[in-house]
Amino acid sequence: MYKYNNFYKKNFIFKIIENDIKNKKYNLICTRFPPEPNGHLHIGHIKSVCLNFSIAKFYKGKFFLRIDDTNPSTENIKYIKSIKKDLIWLGFKWDENIKYTSNYFNLIYKYAVELIKKDLAYVDELNIQDIKNYRGTLLTPGKNSPYRNRSVKENLKLFEKMYLGDFPEGSVCLRAKIDMKSKIIVMRDPVLYRIKFQNHHQTKRKWCIYPTYDFSHCISDAIEGITHSLCTLEFQDNKILYNWILNNINIKKNHPKQYEFSKLNIEYGITSKRNINILIKNKIVSGWDDPRLLTISGLRRKGYTPSSLKNFCYSIGVTKQNNIIEMSFLESCIKSELNELAPRSMAILRPLKIIIDNFPFKKKIKLLIPNHPNKKNMGYRNIYFTKEIYIDILDFSEIEKKNYKRLILGYKVKLRYSFIIKARKIVKDKNNNIIYVHCKYYKDSLGKKINRKKQNVKGIIHWISCYYVKPAKFYLYKNLFIKKDIHINDNILNFLNKKSLLIYNGFIEKNLLENNSNRHFQFEREGYFFFDKKYSNKNKIIFNRILSLRMNDK
Ligand code: ATP
Ligand code: MG
Repeated sequence: MYKYNNFYKKNFIFKIIENDIKNKKYNLICTRFPPEPNGHLHIGHIKSVCLNFSIAKFYKGKFFLRIDDTNPSTENIKYIKSIKKDLIWLGFKWDENIKYTSNYFNLIYKYAVELIKKDLAYVDELNIQDIKNYRGTLLTPGKNSPYRNRSVKENLKLFEKMYLGDFPEGSVCLRAKIDMKSKIIVMRDPVLYRIKFQNHHQTKRKWCIYPTYDFSHCISDAIEGITHSLCTLEFQDNKILYNWILNNINIKKNHPKQYEFSKLNIEYGITSKRNINILIKNKIVSGWDDPRLLTISGLRRKGYTPSSLKNFCYSIGVTKQNNIIEMSFLESCIKSELNELAPRSMAILRPLKIIIDNFPFKKKIKLLIPNHPNKKNMGYRNIYFTKEIYIDILDFSEIEKKNYKRLILGYKVKLRYSFIIKARKIVKDKNNNIIYVHCKYYKDSLGKKINRKKQNVKGIIHWISCYYVKPAKFYLYKNLFIKKDIHINDNILNFLNKKSLLIYNGFIEKNLLENNSNRHFQFEREGYFFFDKKYSNKNKIIFNRILSLRMNDK
C-alpha cells in the first residue's frame, strides 16, 4: 500500500482543495499531467503524476493525460508512445482519451483573433534578437516595439497572413499587448504565436503557426475543465499571464487556478530532459534507458519496481521549498521491497579459482539450501560442493590484514552453507597474478555452527562450484556525477564521474534463471541485481546491480 495517508495530511495542495470543497467551489475536481513530447519521462515526472493522479482519485474526480504538443521542431511521436508505456507500467490510468493541445488549435486560434479584436494583441516584425533586446531586464524596463500601435484591422490582416504562410519563419510573431514596463518580465508583451514550417506529428501540415506554452496551456486547462492546474515553481511568474489570458478571452468563468510546487531533485543526478539529452548525444550513457539515468525507462531497466518509485514519490511530500533528496532514500524504497521479495543466490563477480586438494575429483556433495533465510515458503534449491570452486578475488588475501574477515593464506574461512576450508598454497602466473589457490577442506565442518575464535575461522564467504555455473556479466552502476547538487544551467559534462559503470565477467548458479520468472535477486554479500532481459541473449547474460550490500561501495 502506498504511503497515501501522510501524503494527504502533509500536502499543502490537498489543504487548498479541502478548503475549496468545503466552500462548494467545484462539483468535480479535475487535474492533468501535461508532458511535452520532447523526451522520455524521468523520476521528476513521477512526482508530478503521483500528485495529480492521487488528487483525482482521492476526490473521485478526473485525471487527464495531456500531450502538450505546441512545438513540432522538438517533438516526436516516439516520445508519446514512451510516455504512454511508462505511465501504464507505473499503473496510472487516465480518464477519457489522451488529450492533445493540438486538438484545440482551432479554438486557440479563435482566442488569438479575439485578443487582436480587443486590441490586446499585435503582430510584431521585430526579429527574435530584437524582441529580447527590447524586453529589458529585471533592473531595466522594456521598450515598446515600433509595431505595437498598428490598428486592429491591420493586425487581423497580418495574423491571417501568418496563418496562410505568407511570412518566412522568424520574421513576424503575434504578441500580447500588456505592459513593457511591468516588473514581471513575463508580462512584457509575451509571444503568443510563432511561425514554424514543420510537419506536426498530429496535425501534419495543417498549421504553420503554433501557439506558445503560455498561450496554449491556460486555454487547454480551461477547455478540459481542469480545476487545479499544478506545475513546478519556475512557472510562478507565468501565473499572472495565465490569469491575464483567461480573464481577457471569452471562456468559462470558473477558470482553473494554478498552484506551484518544487521540482524533485536527486543528489548526484539530473532530472531535466535537456540535460539527459546532452548525456545521450555525447555518448556518456548508452541511451534513454541507461540504468544510470533517472528516466523511468532507466530505472525500470535497473530493476526499480513501479511500487518502489511511487512509494518514494509519496514519501518525499510536496512543498514549495526547493530541496535535494538523497539517493540513498530512493534506494531504501526499493531495498525494503526486495528484502522481502528477492530470492537469495550466490554469484561470483570477480572469480578466483580454489582447488580443494583433499577432495576427490569425481565427487560432488549435494547441499539443499534455502532461497530466503527467513522465508521457508520461498523454497529450497540444490547446490554442489566440488573439487573446484570459485570465490571472489576480494575475499582472498595473501597477507594478513587488520579486520579482514575472509580467506587469508594459511588461515581458515567458512563457505556459506558448506565446509570450512584453509588456504595452503597460491599459484601465480608470470605477471604475479594469482591463478588459483590450493585449499584443504574440513570434512566434519558441514552443518556445524562455527566458533570463530576457537576454530580460528576468519569469517563466512560465498562461493560457487566451477561445474555448476553459467557465465554472466555484472553491470555495477555508481553516481553519474561527482557534484551533489547539479544546477540546471551547469555545464554537466564538467562534473562527470568517469567510473560510473563497472562491468565484471563472473558466474551465476547454473539454474538461476531456469525455474524462475522472477528477475530480481539478492546475490549474497554483493547486493540486489536485476536480470536485464532486453539486452541479454543466449550467449550473454546481463545483470544490473540495483544497489550494493557491500560497505563503502557507493
Ligand atoms: P524537463 O526540464 O525535464 O523538460 P519539463 O518541466 O519541461 O521538464 P514537461 O514535459 O513539460 O517537462 O513536464 C510535465 C509536467 O511534469 C509539468 O507539470 C512539470 O512541471 C512536471 N515536472 C517536470 N519535471 C519535474 C520535476 N523534476 N519534479 C516534479 N515535477 C516535474
Ligand atoms: Mg520542457
